[in-house]
Amino acid sequence: MTPSDTGDLTTNPFDDGQDGFHEECGVFGVWGHPDAAALTALGLHALQHRGQEASGIVALGPQGFRAHKGMGLVGDIFGDAKVIAGLPGRAAIGHNRYATTGETAIRNVQPLYADFVFGGLAVAHNGNLTNAMSLRRQLVRRGCLFQSSTDSEVFVHLIAISLYSTVLDRLIDALKQVDGAYSLVGLHDGALIGVRDPLGVRPLVLGRLGTAESNAWVLASETCALDIVGAEFVRDVEPGEIVVIDGDGVRSVKPFGHTANRFCIFEYIYFSRPDSVVEGTPVYETRKRIGAELARESGVAADVVVPVPDSGVPAAMGYAAEADVPFELGIIRNHYVGRTFIEPTDNIRHLGVKLKHSANRAVLEGKRVILVDDSIVRGTTSKKIVEMVRQAGATEVHMRISSPPTTHSCFYGIDTPEREKLMAAQHSVEEMARIIGADSLAFISLDGLYRALGRKGRDASDPGYCDACFTGDYAIPLTDLLGHPERKPALLALNGA
Ligand code: AMP
Repeated sequence: MTPSDTGDLTTNPFDDGQDGFHEECGVFGVWGHPDAAALTALGLHALQHRGQEASGIVALGPQGFRAHKGMGLVGDIFGDAKVIAGLPGRAAIGHNRYATTGETAIRNVQPLYADFVFGGLAVAHNGNLTNAMSLRRQLVRRGCLFQSSTDSEVFVHLIAISLYSTVLDRLIDALKQVDGAYSLVGLHDGALIGVRDPLGVRPLVLGRLGTAESNAWVLASETCALDIVGAEFVRDVEPGEIVVIDGDGVRSVKPFGHTANRFCIFEYIYFSRPDSVVEGTPVYETRKRIGAELARESGVAADVVVPVPDSGVPAAMGYAAEADVPFELGIIRNHYVGRTFIEPTDNIRHLGVKLKHSANRAVLEGKRVILVDDSIVRGTTSKKIVEMVRQAGATEVHMRISSPPTTHSCFYGIDTPEREKLMAAQHSVEEMARIIGADSLAFISLDGLYRALGRKGRDASDPGYCDACFTGDYAIPLTDLLGHPERKPALLALNGA
């Protein structure tokens, strides 16, 4: 083990000099299909938007578990048929990882695999554990040897040291000790397992793939990954539910009793793919409804509605239809460069925005433009785009955002910078408008967002969604943050606004 590896083992993610957590992931699993690994690679393709840094597949065949992992995009890692041929078996799980900076080592690429007294177990995790550092310290003191710096590895050690005998009981024992957001898929030689945390913050769906040669089950972060393999959507895995899939079918276990639902509202706004249906609600339609609400709340006279592609497109369509203003593609996105957030420093991120978007002068010249985007995080994108649109000859630029102001960091699995870097945490809406150079700026209200999701507004006693990034209402304890004295002022600030 190198000295830097040793350092990583005790690294506190809050003190890594980076922008907090960087885990946004996609998970996929198949049970009972002769092409399990190939299907998993396809599923990971459909989930590529959830993580572009690394991918891995673990398959279970007659000769046991085989794994293949790599850094980069799914197509680069699993594009070679020989790689898939080296992962035989009727069951497999896979993982896409998104990590912008910091620890990008191959040892962190999931699925994680370990040999236990009961046999092998592979685990893939989407989400973030909020007491991972505290658990890790305790586990290291007890002699556990961590192989990666991911929070997900605590699951492996908690399962290993559990005094229960069955895999399921050990898993439940482990789950009861962790705080945080998690959708997990696990594979051992007896079953494929899917788990959602008690509040169901991150998504996980169950699908069925009946073919001539198989009657397979599929688990995936989003329904778009079921569609790509031709699987039929069965249902969402419920908050706090464990599904155990084996030769006898699907068994449901609910070790946490009744739990409240706090599904991540940002999945609807930005993160999930628009063709996915999450928690029974189509993402695309929801984004259009958010756009329509936004038009009702903050309409302004204009000649054209222009989305910031791609994530602003459905909301801009909804806005344009409601406002009865023509929808035009005034900004063209280059699809061959990565997401803005992949750039590691502010300076390069700046350049990245220019690489990614170009103004379509024919649509913008001499026009009063409403620009629609899904969120303002640091403000880099909006500032650049507004400038670009003005340079292309727009006479007025009105920015409309299909989320409320992002005032708080996410600790449950969406990559957001520390609070000091969130533009809306530091500035009023008027100040933000001035900084990004827009003639006006408006965000959808919190109640408007909930109306777009079919509610009357936000019910503070039971919101039904996790909206901590807009409200600071953190439903899962931020144990590591609280337990770290020098971070306490930051936490007070987080909760204070
Ligand atoms: P910023 O330039 O920092 O204000 O970022 C805002 C842009 O980043 C918007 O266009 C969003 O579509 C996009 N965005 C928002 N949240 C995320 C995220 N967690 N990961 C990657 N991109 C994001």
